[in-house]
Amino acid sequence: MQLKNYMEDLVFEQLDRVINSHQGVCKCEKCKYDIAALALNYLPPRYVVSDRGETYTRIKSLEQQFLVDIMSSITLAITIVNGRPKHNAE
Ligand SMILES: [Zn+2]
Repeated sequence: MQLKNYMEDLVFEQLDRVINSHQGVCKCEKCKYDIAALALNYLPPRYVVSDRGETYTRIKSLEQQFLVDIMSSITLAITIVNGRPKHNAE
């Protein structure tokens, strides 16, 4: 058994779409993960129990409810990460 933050899946599902709808956003892996992490920090975690190898039931009503929040959190995260990209820091 594993605990899984369902919100992570929802953010990653929307991530590319939201990034592609903005111009001039860096699409390197580091920036994408920074954007995802920031967005997830703005969103409430939603934990589900996941059986290993078995996909958990998707909670459709939850997705509808959070979609707008997810989109705006990703948009905000893009603005912040794009303003101060960390991909050249190391
Ligand atoms: Zn980058």
